[in-house]
Parts: sequence; C-alpha cells; structure tokens
Amino acid sequence: MCPICDVNGVSRRGFLALASAGIASGLFAASNAAWAASDGAPTNLTADQALARLMTGNERYTKAPDVCANNLIRQRDEVAKHQAPWATILSCADSRVPPELLFGGGELFVARNAGNMVDTATMGTIEYGSAVLGVPLIVVLGHERCGAVAAAVDTFEKQAEFPGSIGPMVGAIVPAVQAAKGKPGDLLDNAVRESASVSARHLATGSPLIADLVTKGKVKVVAACYDLDNGKVEWLA
Ligand SMILES: [Zn+2]
Repeated sequence: MCPICDVNGVSRRGFLALASAGIASGLFAASNAAWAASDGAPTNLTADQALARLMTGNERYTKAPDVCANNLIRQRDEVAKHQAPWATILSCADSRVPPELLFGGGELFVARNAGNMVDTATMGTIEYGSAVLGVPLIVVLGHERCGAVAAAVDTFEKQAEFPGSIGPMVGAIVPAVQAAKGKPGDLLDNAVRESASVSARHLATGSPLIADLVTKGKVKVVAACYDLDNGKVEWLA
C-alpha cells in the first residue's frame, strides 16, 4: 500500500456519495439527452475547488512524485462505469507534459495537440466536457520550450516553412508570437504564455456553450505554464 496515496488520495466512493447528494441539475439543463453519454452524477466540485485540487496535485508531483499501482487499479475499478471529471486540461502533445502525472492523478478530461491550440475538434471536446459531463474548470496548459511554439517563432522571424499540415498548425500560433514580440525576456517563453492566455480567452468567449457557463459562474477558464525542469505549474493571470 502506498503511504502517499493513503494520506493524500481522494476516496472516489466518498466523492460519489457527495455528488449524488445533489447539484447535478444546472449544467445539464442545456444538455440534450441524445448526446448525454453519462447517466450518473457529475462532480460537485466548484471551479475554485477543482483548481485547488490541481495545485495540490502538482505540489505533490514536484515534492514526492510516484505512481502507485494499487491506487491505479483502485481508480480503474471505481470509474469504469461512470466518469465525473472535475477539470479539463488542454495541453501540448509533447511527451514531457502528461497531465495525469503532473497534476498528481485524478479524474481529468484531457485534450492534447501540438501547441495546445483550440481547433474545432478541441473546442467540441472541451464543450462536451463542461456542457455534458459537468466539468467546472478548464485549464489551457502551455509549457517551457514548446517545439510547436518554437516553430511559430521561426516562422515569424525566419519565414520558416513546414510540410503537410504542420505549416497551418504552426501558423495558428504565429499571432501569439507577434503579440509577444518586443516584451522583456525570452521571446519563446513569452510566446508560450501569450498563446496559452489567448487560447483561454478564446475558449471563455468564443464558444457560446462555454461563454454561457462562464457567465453563469459555473465554469472557469484559466491559463497555465508548465516548467519542464522542476515540474511546477505556474498559473497565469
Ligand atoms: Zn509543446
């Protein structure tokens, strides 16, 4: 038995007991039964409580990183029939940025692509998370030394070109590079933060579904940046 999981782990059964006590109605008012794939209660966490849980999980990851086999087996058993994710993480596809690990586990709804950009598929995924599954917190997670953003910097500064669909994918990040140009500090680092913040704002206002939930105080969208070297997540304003 892992002592870390014993001390810090969250009992899924206790969690479900709380969720079944109520608060299932609001977010689902707008959902259509035809596309509601989850027939159980959503999480009862607020966005702020979910954010606090991510902060705690990341602190645990940086101070005592561990993967406990017993805990993973228990989690699989407990969520097999029903999911109630409490945070959606839009992160880069980069192999060094695994949300479930760097946030210390938990039920996360995850969308990933190079550069953590919001395209149609990603927007739909995130809308589904909050409007159907009841996820109260959405995090756009950029990261240090992101290759996709570095490619956008090269496109902006050196007119670099990339084959296939990589070019248009990188091109979508270039406006963030342009906005970051001239700011004090490192251009790549600033562009990573700018891009994550732009995507967070786009999610909060560009999607009628998400914007409505944000206006009602049921969903928060935040941007963050992951440090590859020390494992810490910095929450951006
Ligand atoms: Zn990246």
